[in-house]
Amino acid sequence: MTKSTTFPTTHDTASRPRAPDARDWRCRKCFKLLGRRSARSVHVNFARGHQYIVSTPVTAVCRCCGTLNEIHKTT
Ligand SMILES: [Zn+2]
Repeated sequence: MTKSTTFPTTHDTASRPRAPDARDWRCRKCFKLLGRRSARSVHVNFARGHQYIVSTPVTAVCRCCGTLNEIHKTT
Protein backbone atom coordinates (compact mmCIF):
# COMPACT_ATOMS: atom_id res chain seq x y z
CA MET A 1 0.00 0.00 0.00
CA THR A 2 1.11 3.51 -0.68
CA LYS A 3 -0.02 6.52 1.24
CA SER A 4 -0.51 9.78 -0.59
CA THR A 5 1.02 12.35 1.67
CA THR A 6 1.56 14.94 -0.99
CA PHE A 7 -0.63 17.62 0.48
CA PRO A 8 0.59 21.13 -0.21
CA THR A 9 1.40 23.17 2.83
CA THR A 10 0.44 26.53 1.39
CA HIS A 11 -2.85 28.27 2.10
CA ASP A 12 -3.88 28.77 -1.51
CA THR A 13 -4.72 25.19 -2.26
CA ALA A 14 -8.22 26.14 -3.37
CA SER A 15 -7.01 28.42 -6.12
CA ARG A 16 -4.77 25.77 -7.54
CA PRO A 17 -6.44 22.39 -7.54
CA ARG A 18 -3.35 20.56 -8.57
CA ALA A 19 -4.53 17.18 -7.40
CA PRO A 20 -8.31 17.11 -7.09
CA ASP A 21 -8.28 13.52 -6.03
CA ALA A 22 -6.32 14.35 -2.92
CA ARG A 23 -9.42 15.94 -1.42
CA ASP A 24 -11.56 12.90 -1.91
CA TRP A 25 -12.22 10.76 1.09
CA ARG A 26 -12.51 7.25 -0.20
CA CYS A 27 -13.06 3.92 1.38
CA ARG A 28 -9.72 2.31 1.99
CA LYS A 29 -11.03 -1.04 0.90
CA CYS A 30 -13.40 -0.60 -2.04
CA PHE A 31 -12.39 2.98 -2.91
CA LYS A 32 -15.95 4.23 -2.84
CA LEU A 33 -16.23 7.97 -2.38
CA LEU A 34 -17.31 8.77 1.17
CA GLY A 35 -16.88 12.52 1.20
CA ARG A 36 -14.75 15.52 0.42
CA ARG A 37 -12.12 17.03 2.61
CA SER A 38 -12.07 20.73 3.21
CA ALA A 39 -9.57 22.81 5.08
CA ARG A 40 -10.78 21.80 8.53
CA SER A 41 -13.83 19.70 7.86
CA VAL A 42 -15.16 16.86 5.82
CA HIS A 43 -18.13 17.25 3.51
CA VAL A 44 -20.11 14.05 3.52
CA ASN A 45 -22.67 13.28 0.85
CA PHE A 46 -25.30 10.65 1.32
CA ALA A 47 -27.18 8.87 -1.39
CA ARG A 48 -30.49 10.63 -0.94
CA GLY A 49 -29.13 14.13 -1.00
CA HIS A 50 -28.37 14.55 2.67
CA GLN A 51 -25.21 16.45 3.24
CA TYR A 52 -23.18 16.85 6.37
CA ILE A 53 -20.18 18.95 7.09
CA VAL A 54 -18.32 17.50 10.00
CA SER A 55 -15.04 18.24 11.66
CA THR A 56 -12.29 15.76 12.23
CA PRO A 57 -11.76 13.23 13.61
CA VAL A 58 -14.41 11.51 11.52
CA THR A 59 -15.36 7.88 11.48
CA ALA A 60 -17.65 6.45 8.85
CA VAL A 61 -18.73 3.01 7.83
CA CYS A 62 -18.61 2.46 4.11
CA ARG A 63 -22.11 1.92 2.79
CA CYS A 64 -20.75 -0.39 0.17
CA CYS A 65 -18.48 -2.84 1.96
CA GLY A 66 -18.92 -1.93 5.62
CA THR A 67 -15.31 -1.04 6.24
CA LEU A 68 -14.63 1.43 9.03
CA ASN A 69 -12.87 4.52 7.70
CA GLU A 70 -11.35 7.23 9.84
CA ILE A 71 -9.96 10.68 9.24
CA HIS A 72 -7.94 12.25 12.00
CA LYS A 73 -6.78 15.32 10.13
CA THR A 74 -7.69 16.78 6.80
CA THR A 75 -4.31 18.28 6.12
ZN1 LIG B 1 -16.02 0.33 1.02
